[in-house]
Amino acid sequence: MTLCEHCEQEQKIELLEVWDHRQFMMSTCCETLQDEVQWGLQHDPKWARDLLQRLGVEAICGHSLRRVADDAIGGLVLDWNLRLGCLSFGDAQAFVAAHHEHARPPVGWRFGSGLWNGPDLIGVVIVGKPTARAIDQHAVVEVTRLCLRRDLPDALRWNGCSMLYGWACTSAKARGFRRIITYTRQDEDGGSLRASGWTCEGPAGGRSWNWRGRPRVDHEPPHPRLRWSRVCATARPPAEQVGGRRTCRGTVAAV
Ligand SMILES: [Zn+2]
Repeated sequence: MTLCEHCEQEQKIELLEVWDHRQFMMSTCCETLQDEVQWGLQHDPKWARDLLQRLGVEAICGHSLRRVADDAIGGLVLDWNLRLGCLSFGDAQAFVAAHHEHARPPVGWRFGSGLWNGPDLIGVVIVGKPTARAIDQHAVVEVTRLCLRRDLPDALRWNGCSMLYGWACTSAKARGFRRIITYTRQDEDGGSLRASGWTCEGPAGGRSWNWRGRPRVDHEPPHPRLRWSRVCATARPPAEQVGGRRTCRGTVAAV
């Protein structure tokens, strides 16, 4: 038995309740220890994580704890380790439709991934053919949408963009693509792209598609954009399977 140095009773720090996989309530032997624990939870992330792990929060919730995070409205939330996982194109489209600030879901994809924080799908990345026809459609892929939920505390998205961009590049490489590109609006922060090893190639496009002689309806307002790219650096030809053989821009190689 450990004696509490404040109340001289048996020291007690218990995890009383966890609800919605995020909120939790603790109880202590006395108010002074409660203040100490509260301070530790708010200011000492490693101590807070160790304490909650010791109290069994991961077994209770079935997730691996990343940290205890500030929910920006005066409380604390359980922030679980981020996890990439499969999702269908339809689910990715629905996610973008529900959560993207200014863009509609794309109509096609080559591949994509979801990102979970505990039980919550918090982000998706959608990778498709390059939208600019002049770019080699066989060797290059484009991140056409990357979208993270904004209706959960900001802390739960921490490192999410970098993970999704990193996954997109690794997957493009594994599929034999040589380069991956994406576009951001000039007023968007490219910090997570830079952190994931992408290079800004400068302004690209952003003009309206509604040209004279080729009228189209703009679904998104035209906006100056920047193009970013990352070399996947692979020696393998693109993974386009035709008749059981692998084709590479017109040449056919034996598999
Ligand atoms: Zn006490």
